[in-house]
Amino acid sequence: MTPILPGATIGFLGGGQLGRMTAFAARSMGYDIQVLDPDAACAARAVASRTITAPFDDIAAAVELAKSCDVVTLEIEQIHPDVLDAVAEHTALRPGRAPVYIIQDRIRQKEWLHAQGFPLGAFVAAASAADVEAAVREHGACIAKSTHGGYDGRGQVRLREPEQAADAWEALGGRTCLVEKMVSIDYEISVMVARRPGGEMAVYPPSRNHHTSGILTWAVIPAVIAPEMSEKAQSLASAITERIGIVGLLAVECFVTTEGELLVNELAPRPHNTYHHSERGLATSQFEQLVRAVCDLPLGSTEVHAPSAIVNLLGEVWLQHEPPHTTHALQVPGSRLHLYGKAGARGGRKMGHLSAVGESAQQALGRVLESYRRLS
Ligand code: ADP
Ligand code: MG
Repeated sequence: MTPILPGATIGFLGGGQLGRMTAFAARSMGYDIQVLDPDAACAARAVASRTITAPFDDIAAAVELAKSCDVVTLEIEQIHPDVLDAVAEHTALRPGRAPVYIIQDRIRQKEWLHAQGFPLGAFVAAASAADVEAAVREHGACIAKSTHGGYDGRGQVRLREPEQAADAWEALGGRTCLVEKMVSIDYEISVMVARRPGGEMAVYPPSRNHHTSGILTWAVIPAVIAPEMSEKAQSLASAITERIGIVGLLAVECFVTTEGELLVNELAPRPHNTYHHSERGLATSQFEQLVRAVCDLPLGSTEVHAPSAIVNLLGEVWLQHEPPHTTHALQVPGSRLHLYGKAGARGGRKMGHLSAVGESAQQALGRVLESYRRLS
């Protein structure tokens, strides 16, 4: 296989913040960037030589992108399978259709993980409100999730009682949905894995993640957890990556239950919010690693150079105080501000993040939380 060398053009299906940050990394390495996104004002536009504005099911537009790129990657899994096929006919598509197809439907993803024998919490594919009700009767508190397009806790409804099933079914649009038993979580971690076309892999140390109402608040690395749990999570993530045969990145989100069990929550075939600190504290950022993987270059070291942490900046920060107190926030030692260039703050919208490095995970997290406190 011949590597795709600097000077070549990388295409992105999706031009949100993940595409933007990957595009920055690719630009640093001398690649040219083209982006396809439904939003003409998408975050990656500022980094791209060309932005094609089209929905993710527009085959003609995707073919146009593919024809002018040496490789096409993606920053979002909700790309129509026919579009993935069309792109693959014209250029290298990495990750390819097969892993993305499995991952983009929550039920298909869970059933695949289950069939491969990976550890999961109890789940049911519900085809009616009655199925949802039966799941809650059997398992107690549950979360119903729409099969497609949910993110940051959107497209999810939490249920305690069987009587809530009809409303939950309605709220998710009256369509087949995934119902999961509510797991008793001790803590959440994720593991990022990179894989080249020939199968070489690089596994990152786990990140410890904290969510509020289904949306990531902070993430820190190294995760201060038992070393055996770290190793177990890394082997689990590597095994999934190998089995699904992805080229690029695979983020594996995990729960560690109050019983000490390690369960897979969900997969993402792309850069992940819980590894934004890799840009600060790790030898190779997830963004550079994606570029290396899809261009078939040697993968970078995943060594931790400095403990690092991030806090997400949602639209609420701007709604509370416009403009936020950037100068105060940046007085915190080791802190950095990352904004995605999005116009229009809305509640729950990811506008950017703060990061910090420190002597320890605790110090990095303390610093980034302090920086956040000073911002608004
Ligand atoms: P998203 O695609 O929005 O990230 P997730 O399925 O990862 O969706 O859910 C978001 C968060 O909601 C998780 O990180 C976790 O904190 C919580 N959550 C999701 N599923 C469960 C579950 N079965 N039990 C307990 N908490 C859950
Ligand atoms: Mg998630």
